[in-house]
Parts: sequence; structure tokens; C-alpha cells
Amino acid sequence: MFWADKIADEVERRYKDRIDAGEPIIVRDEKTASGKVHVGSLRSAALHAIVADILNDRGIAVKFLFEINDFDPMDGIPGYLDEATYAPYMGHPLFKVPSPEEGYENFAELYGQEYVEVVNTIGFGAEVYRASELYRSGAMNAAIRAVLDKKEIVHKIYKEVSGSERKADWYPLNVICEKCGNLSATRITGWDGEMVDYECSSDTIEWAEGCGHTGRISPFDGNASLPWKPEWAAKFMANNVHFEGGGKDHYTKGGSRQVAEAISREVLEHEPPYGVFNEFFLVGGKKMSSSKGNAATAKDMTELLPPHILRLLLLKTPINRQIDFDPEGDAVPVLFDTYDRLAEKTWSGVEDDDSQVFKFSHVPEKRAEIQQRFLPRFSQIAFLVQMPHMDLYEEVTGMKGAELTDADKEEIDLRATYAKKWLAEYADEKFIFALQESLPEAANNLSSEQKQAVALFAQKLEAIDMKDGQAIHELTHEIKEESGLSPKEFFTAIYLLFLGKESGPKVGWFLSTLDDSFVQQRLKLEG
Ligand SMILES: [Zn+2]
Repeated sequence: MFWADKIADEVERRYKDRIDAGEPIIVRDEKTASGKVHVGSLRSAALHAIVADILNDRGIAVKFLFEINDFDPMDGIPGYLDEATYAPYMGHPLFKVPSPEEGYENFAELYGQEYVEVVNTIGFGAEVYRASELYRSGAMNAAIRAVLDKKEIVHKIYKEVSGSERKADWYPLNVICEKCGNLSATRITGWDGEMVDYECSSDTIEWAEGCGHTGRISPFDGNASLPWKPEWAAKFMANNVHFEGGGKDHYTKGGSRQVAEAISREVLEHEPPYGVFNEFFLVGGKKMSSSKGNAATAKDMTELLPPHILRLLLLKTPINRQIDFDPEGDAVPVLFDTYDRLAEKTWSGVEDDDSQVFKFSHVPEKRAEIQQRFLPRFSQIAFLVQMPHMDLYEEVTGMKGAELTDADKEEIDLRATYAKKWLAEYADEKFIFALQESLPEAANNLSSEQKQAVALFAQKLEAIDMKDGQAIHELTHEIKEESGLSPKEFFTAIYLLFLGKESGPKVGWFLSTLDDSFVQQRLKLEG
């Protein structure tokens, strides 16, 4: 079964009464807008979006919420920003930090909106709200009151679940200092049921500077925010969430999920939502960290792959298994091949996990209009776009063996566009080809056996239809047999003569795309 269907089944089982009553299932995801969003976040986006999508597809009412967390403090400065400019804001809530670019209200808006655009592009969009709005609306007040009143239970949970000791006078809440605006540098010293006393000091936390102010303020309506674990529990309750997962790192034994669930039950007396963890998304074997500005961002990924192919990448692997995607290697062509395989299977009438993945790989609004069309291999398109003398439509007509439809042409254009981007920005040298206009110097290095085989090949090709790639392919086998060369020795000779490098696309197909007399001339080493 498609992994997301299993999760949706479990959501249906747990919330049957609610679903029967026609009340919506609330799915929630969030992202702290602390910088450019890395590709790894797309896994969390995929998990929540696909569960909401499937429930919706089953006719169940769903409300999918996405929070731009703009109330977290700035706790690190991304490498692409000026350290000196942002150092004074360490510990300040992100919605109070100025935007690095003009046109955005604050720091969190710039990065939050960039990410929302990304998820909208790939059809993972949700109803967006901001943490600052949630706090200011008063929706977090009940949870804030509960953790202040029952701070001893919070301490007990921290100790029993995660093994961390908190001082008896620690209140799980941070006030925004009225004087300097710092959130992380403040410490609450008293709570009388209406107001909190606090002090703002550089001793509170190592990386944030306090101003020495002491004050007394209401902790409600956006004046203060909860630390991450109690906050997660509070958001479960404030939004009445039914499905929310999280990254694998939060799901360890004694980790933030277990702490949040215990606080939800024991302090807030609220049953936490159902959730599962999502595994990491590695790019070329590296785990991407949002604190370093040197990795593939979620936005980069939407530029490298069209929406349905990126969705396929995110949906084809079970959510609890790692994705390792190396855009420099053959991962992009292989991903397109996977799409083609699922498409052929689905179009032949098979209904199984693959056809389900295929269906949900398309953004919801486009699903109804998916047309059966000819799918030229991405690797071949990537080769053809590098051969300026070739007409793409003509070559693909040859592959298809029939006239192209409008849908075919659209597909060719799409693949050509993305192939060019891939070649220009990511693809390893081995995928880059240039047809050698004159005989490459490397031809001099061919062995006499190679030269003989090439001459024999040229001679026998004269009797073959040069548009027939399969016939040329079969002839290469015959030549290898007769010459006694290994496949590598023979093919290397051909690639060197035409491309000036030792590897290339399938020889039969490749030669069939070239002009007959040019092929003859080159195989006879005549320039
Ligand atoms: Zn202060």
C-alpha cells in the first residue's frame, strides 16, 4: 500500500466519529523562518500535504494549516548574512528582526514567504498563519496559564521523559523585554495568576545580550512565548490538531515529541494529535542544515525539477526512509525514467501502489487533465539539446514512430527546458557532450585494432538504413565479434571520434541522429 494511504487510514480510524459528523480534520505543519529553507523541509511539507490531499480525495473535510513560525528567537546568523548587522538581534523574535531584503515587513516574512511560494508551486500549499498572530489572538493564553500554574509538572516531565533537570524556580515561558525587545535574555521570577515579574540579563543565556531591565507584565496576548516543547503542545491544543508529524530528530526516545505529548496530556489535559516522523532528505549524501547557507534550498529544487517530478521524488520513497538525491549524478534522468515507468503502467490500466503514486505526483488541480502522451527519455533529450544541428521534434518523431500530438510537443518542450537547466547548473562533466566538428586529436591514439574495427564498421554501415538506430546497434555487436575487441574498446573508439571523450549515449541511436555522409567521413578518419 502507498505509505500515505496507510497514514490516512489510521487518521480515519482514530477520528471516525469526527469524520462521520462532517467536522474537518485539522492537519498542521510549521517552519521556523530563520533563513533560506533547505530542501530537507520538503519532506515535512510532503508528509502533511499528502495526508491532507488523500483525505480530501476520499471526500473527508480537511483543514490544512501551515504556520510560519516568526515568534522563535533569532538563535543563529545564516552564513550569507552580515554577522555584525544581525548580532544585536540575537535572542529577538524573528518578526521583530529587520528583513535583509526590501519589500518584506520583517526577517521572518522574507524567508517564510519564499517557502510558502515553493510549497504552493508544487501543490503542497496550505492555509498560512503566523505564530505571532496565534499568540496575539489569545489562542495560546490558556496553555500559557496552564504551564505557569503547573510549572512543577512541566519540570517533572522534562526530568522523567528527557532526563533534563530544571531549576525549581524556572518558568517555562519567555517574556519579550519591554525595554530592549529581547526574548531569550529574559527570565521570569514570579507569577501571581495575572502578571509575571521578569528580568532581562546577559546571564540568562550565553548567546543573547540582556539590558538589565526588570519589569512586570501580563504574559498573554503576544507578550511572551513558550519554549519549543511546551509550545508544540500548546499549538496542538490551540489549533485542535488531529494530524501532525515531525522530523526524525524530534521523535527520538525522550525527544521533543514525547515531551510535548506528555505536556499536552498532563498539563493541558488535551489529547495530542496522531503523527509520524519523516526521515531526512540528503543531497549528495549530506544532511542539509539550515544554519549553513551553502546547500541546495527548497527553492533551488523547484527550479531544477518540474512540480510533478519533484512530487514524485518526495512521494515515491516511504516517509520513514531516507532520500538521497545527487543532482550532479544520474539522479535526475533516473527520476524521469521512474515517472515514465509509472505512467506507462498506469496508462496500461494497472491499478496498484505505483498508479497511486503516479496520481498523487500531479498537483491536485492538474490531475484531471493528465493526458496520455509520448515520453521521450530525459537522458536522450538531455543529449539532443546539446546537439545544435538537431531538430528535437523531428528526432522524437523518429523515436515515437508516429506524428507528434500537441501533448507530446508540450512534454518535449518541458523536458528540453529542464534538461538545459540541469546541464547548465548541476550535471557532472560526463553528461556534457559536444559534437566534434573536425576529427579530434584523440583519433591518433586509437590502436590499430580499433582503427581496423572502425573501418570495417564504416564499410558495413553503407548497406544499412542510417535512420534505423536498432539496425546500427545490431551491427556494432557484429563488429565487436569479428574484430575481437571488448565492447569498451570498440565504443570508446566511436565516442572519441565523434565526441572527443570516452563515453556517450547509446551508439546505434546516437549515430542514427547524425548525417550519413558525416558519419562515413568521420569513421574513415577523413576529418
Ligand atoms: Zn532587555
